[in-house]
Amino acid sequence: MKIPEKLSICNIPTPIQELGAINPDKGWSNLYIKRDDYTGLETSGNKVRKFEFHLKRAMDQGADVIITCGGLQSNHCRAAASLAARFSMGCHLVLREPDALPDGNYFLCQMFGAEITLISWDRYANSRNEIMFEIGEKYRRKNRKPYIIPEGGSNGLGMFGYYNTYLEILAQEQELGIRFDTICVADGTGGTYSGLYSANELLGGGKQIVGFNVYSRDGAKERVLHILEEGACIAGLGSPISKDNIYQNFDYLGDGYAIVYPKLVDFIRQTARATGIVTDPVYTGKALLGAVSEIAKRNAMFKGNVLFIHTGGQFGIFPRRELFM
Ligand SMILES: *Cc1c(COP(=O)(O)O)cnc(C)c1O
Repeated sequence: MKIPEKLSICNIPTPIQELGAINPDKGWSNLYIKRDDYTGLETSGNKVRKFEFHLKRAMDQGADVIITCGGLQSNHCRAAASLAARFSMGCHLVLREPDALPDGNYFLCQMFGAEITLISWDRYANSRNEIMFEIGEKYRRKNRKPYIIPEGGSNGLGMFGYYNTYLEILAQEQELGIRFDTICVADGTGGTYSGLYSANELLGGGKQIVGFNVYSRDGAKERVLHILEEGACIAGLGSPISKDNIYQNFDYLGDGYAIVYPKLVDFIRQTARATGIVTDPVYTGKALLGAVSEIAKRNAMFKGNVLFIHTGGQFGIFPRRELFM
């Protein structure tokens, strides 16, 4: 097992806290939260753990401009813009939305000085990679060295961010004297889930790794399989990682990515009031609602010690403020 080299740019280990106040069935299940929203401020959330690997490779290749893409309120793109500024690199973002008010993450991307190309939902769905490639070619013609990072930073390289997080959790289990039976996380582009899942499989951790999908049912499993395959190849594994224990839950996705529903809005507000923790309507709110609801249903997968990873996303709540007022 060969883990690629990386930078050290995250505030880690992130703390693990008990989340008793919103646990509907204490004793049957103990709910904990790992604060990956504390990995940084401008770089808050899960994406910076993937960027440790991407930026190391980009720098090794002499890149001087990062190109990546995402939704208008992409946490990944905001982290990219901040990190590029920090390392004196250029940053060119391809964002999905033809026109928009500067707020939340999109506002911060501008604050960090990123170049931004806005495209339609249709072009984003069908040709974002070609568009990033063409932008890269433009930089090359100006003697710049672009480095393209896929949506969400999720590929076989970025996956190692959450492979390492799994190791971090194992060390914290020793310190805390707790063994987590289940780890659950919001599943978007699949990189976070794949990293946790691969470590659990390869190290024989025997935990249940649950991905609450917030992205789309279509292609969700294929995304994870593809990342696992790439990751196994990068790590020089002789045999593929077993697919048998992949568990993605779609019950809290609602009508699709970033689409909210009344129960979710109530849950986010109640959670904030009961715990002092802010979750976001796109990722962590849906996933934490999932974890709490599955405990309430006594789903056997959620019996015992359950660790929810808060993957960040709080800046995304500001453009949606009206939902909560
Ligand atoms: C991107 C993101 C996720 C999902 O991570 P993936 O690796 O894309 O599956 C979860 N939570 C937040 C806040 C995110 O920004």
